[in-house]
Amino acid sequence: MDRLSLNTELQSRKEQATPRGVGVLTKVFAARAENAEIWDVEGNRYIDFAGGIGVLATGHCHPRVIAAAQAQLAKFTHTCWQVMPYPGYVELAEKLNRLAPGSAPKKTAFFSTGAEGVENAVKIARVATGRSGVVSFTGAFHGRTMMAMALTGKVAPYKTGFGPFPAEVYHAPFPIELHGTSVEQAIEGVERLFKADIDPARVAAIIIEPVQGEGGFYVAPPALLKRLRELCDQHGMLLIADEIQSGFARTGRWFAIEHASVVPDLVVTAKSLAGGFPLSAVTGRADVMDAAAPGGLGGTYAGNPVAIAAALAVIEVIESEGLLDRATHLGERIRRLLAEARAAHAQIAEVRGLGAMIGVEFADPSSGAPDAEFAKRVQARAFESGLVLLTCGIHFNVIRFLMPLTISDAVFDEALQILAQSIGAAARA
Ligand code: PMP
Repeated sequence: MDRLSLNTELQSRKEQATPRGVGVLTKVFAARAENAEIWDVEGNRYIDFAGGIGVLATGHCHPRVIAAAQAQLAKFTHTCWQVMPYPGYVELAEKLNRLAPGSAPKKTAFFSTGAEGVENAVKIARVATGRSGVVSFTGAFHGRTMMAMALTGKVAPYKTGFGPFPAEVYHAPFPIELHGTSVEQAIEGVERLFKADIDPARVAAIIIEPVQGEGGFYVAPPALLKRLRELCDQHGMLLIADEIQSGFARTGRWFAIEHASVVPDLVVTAKSLAGGFPLSAVTGRADVMDAAAPGGLGGTYAGNPVAIAAALAVIEVIESEGLLDRATHLGERIRRLLAEARAAHAQIAEVRGLGAMIGVEFADPSSGAPDAEFAKRVQARAFESGLVLLTCGIHFNVIRFLMPLTISDAVFDEALQILAQSIGAAARA
């Protein structure tokens, strides 16, 4: 079989064997990966600016992460934390309690996926407050389980056809100046919910992504986060930061909410926490975390020892390789390139972000309407040149950058060149 047909053959078997509902971006199949590069089954090379959707801050197969996971694999793979605990879980909890914002004593519980982390944050907030309501934001993405889906503020494709959803979830407008929604209007939206829909005394929590991920890489303005903190304190509600995509060094800080100097009551992490292994965490004020009775939280695989070992290595790598500063540096390089591109191409409506969590939004220069086609053209051109890019946004018109922070300068330079060429080509098309 020649090289070309291997991907094609796998694609046709995939279509027969797996449902279309699990949407897949590319039609090539991975064979191996290292740091910021992936090779497919035909030997073609790609630069990975998707990082498994923000999972690989420390890159593919970081030697220290792999060594830590292998060492744990040789000892045991599973006891179930709830049956016989293991030291790594405690050590990682201690580390997260130290890293998470705020000086109050903290505790951490582990789960497997981001959505499971979100579900448990809501469970903890409800049991701690004795209240049921949860406020989230338009454009938010919190996962694909029932409660996480209810909290998600984007209908197609995430919610279409999957209802009814759990009750007591309310959406306030996320402020996006570019689309005409100010922080004041967002706060008015929250206050309107408290007048029209639910007594704030019945609201357990407000959940927010400090930088929206799937929603379009919109940064929650510090003024909004500060005001939400005040509203939570005023009404006895908890503030939950979903840092699943924005956390773990991506923005140049461990947690994006640190940029606003706001301390949430609970913070949810996953993705880059464990460098490719399924692990999520809920970290929060000890009194809040202890509200659930023994047996109320957990899961068979929650806090898997191999994933925990990997996460401990991820933290060491972020610290020893200076990845917080590296994130800031990479973000500045992307910003500079996009500023130049913006001067040349009126289709670039906005470049924004924190640290390396940068998004570029495209719009029709004459009407100002979101231009998803342009974003798609840039993505397709880049892929033809071997650069994997992800889009996002409620209008699908944003390209986001989620490359490993460990990416070498040479590979990063190469990727930026492809990006610039792809934007130019999309503009000419
Ligand atoms: N919250 C945010 C902010 C996310 O970006 C994601 C995943 N894209 C999730 C929750 C859900 O995580 P998972 O897919 O691991 O369930």
